Amino acid sequence: MRNIKICCILMLLCFLLLSSVSFAAKAHTHKYDILVKREAPTCTTGGFEDVKCECGKTKRNKLKALGHKWEFTCNAPSPTCEKIGYKYEKCMNLNCKEYRKTKLKATGHEWKYIETVLPSCEKGGYKLEKCLKCDKTRETGKFGKALGHIFDGDFYYYSATCNSRARKFWSCTRCQNASKIEYVGEALGHNIEVQTIPPSCTKMGTIAYCCTRCNFMDRKAIPATGHNFTTFTSDPTCTTAGSETKLCTTCGQKIVKSIPKLNHTYISTKNGYACTKCGVIKPQTASTIAPKNVPLNKDSNKLNYTY
Ligand SMILES: [Zn+2]
Ligand SMILES: [Zn+2]
Ligand SMILES: [Zn+2]
Ligand SMILES: [Zn+2]
Ligand SMILES: [Zn+2]
Ligand SMILES: [Zn+2]
Ligand SMILES: [Zn+2]
Repeated sequence: MRNIKICCILMLLCFLLLSSVSFAAKAHTHKYDILVKREAPTCTTGGFEDVKCECGKTKRNKLKALGHKWEFTCNAPSPTCEKIGYKYEKCMNLNCKEYRKTKLKATGHEWKYIETVLPSCEKGGYKLEKCLKCDKTRETGKFGKALGHIFDGDFYYYSATCNSRARKFWSCTRCQNASKIEYVGEALGHNIEVQTIPPSCTKMGTIAYCCTRCNFMDRKAIPATGHNFTTFTSDPTCTTAGSETKLCTTCGQKIVKSIPKLNHTYISTKNGYACTKCGVIKPQTASTIAPKNVPLNKDSNKLNYTY
């Protein structure tokens, strides 16, 4: 009975020992599900995550740099056959403002054969090619020489004018684009006819040189001649006025200036009163007797009466 007790105790101890051994053998697996600290990675720099297990053990997980996430943006000039272009891109990651510009090579033409052009008057033959992308053309595979123009057909004849010589005019019989000119003789020169409008005493005249063949005309002014006056004088008498007349012998213009009549100058003679200038005798009538208050002539002692 006592043995059984001891045995039981031993078995219990054994069990406890075994279970403690199995507990020790059944190792604790860390579960890092507690986030302690996190530093997020950017496009160019790495970050980390510090995590902790229930048991208190911590661990640092490194986080890789994200790298830029490039995406196209618009408005970049595309490359053409002959010119380079660009590609503009923007990083789409949060908090990143990076842009990048990439040069793109010119694409180069893409030639396609169009036709074979035969030699012409001015150019040898060639193969014509056209770019499928930009419509530019180029000449390749040249052959043969330019043929030269042919002037063996009829010609137009242009008559001479006042200023230009007569000429023969040919067009190329093959291409019609080129011409040959041969001059004949000399220009005619103007056939001048002179027309004169003579000047007057007061107005200018004109000499006009007009070509009877073309509309050439030239003019020259002739100055006014001015009047050509001759002076005639008729003397005044005691009873009639005289005059001084200036007469233009060219145009007949007349300028008349009158000279006042002289009036009689009487002196007393034995025959009565006589005029000293014309000798006329004044008849003795009551009305002709000198009035008493006649002013005295200063130059003479005689009494002069003037009517
Ligand atoms: Zn743990
Ligand atoms: Zn970025
Ligand atoms: Zn092209
Ligand atoms: Zn030609
Ligand atoms: Zn003329
Ligand atoms: Zn005149
Ligand atoms: Zn008189």
